[in-house]
Amino acid sequence: MAEPVPLPSELAALHHELGIPADYGARRGLPLQADAEAGALVTVARKADGTSVQLIAPAAKAWADLHQAAAHEGIVLTAVSGHRSVSRQADLIRRKLAVGQSIAAILAVMAAPGFSEHHTGRALDVGTPDYPDLEEAFADSPAFAWLNRRAADFGFRLSFPKDNPRGFIFEPWHWFWTE
Ligand SMILES: [Zn+2]
Repeated sequence: MAEPVPLPSELAALHHELGIPADYGARRGLPLQADAEAGALVTVARKADGTSVQLIAPAAKAWADLHQAAAHEGIVLTAVSGHRSVSRQADLIRRKLAVGQSIAAILAVMAAPGFSEHHTGRALDVGTPDYPDLEEAFADSPAFAWLNRRAADFGFRLSFPKDNPRGFIFEPWHWFWTE
């Protein structure tokens, strides 16, 4: 169990607004994640809807190397989602609440604002042409098998494996880079 983290007041107010339990971070064993500076982010992919997928520069370099190594072995990987700000995370949760999802259900698939690895610009959701959407079946793909075998060589690890102690669903697509 992590020590309770006193939230910065802005984040505490946001959590209160969204109905997130005050002991969320401590109960889930999740550390606060700092939002990357906009100037530190580089674009690794552009999506059909015109938005871009961004990571901090060293993570982007590691992703480029990983992507190329996979391609050499015939594995096509796509960058689906990268940096996400605290306010964007809050907006996504508001949208789910607005269509009637419970905060408990939302927090099984998304981190509370301030706690998402995506804030750091080091987390990347990965797909492959057969599995462009983030879905558990991606775990059955050759792309996932390749990532399991090789991603660590490039500094990426799977954050939320099956039955993870953080209370998230299995996320075979979510990879986190560290130096
Ligand atoms: Zn993710």
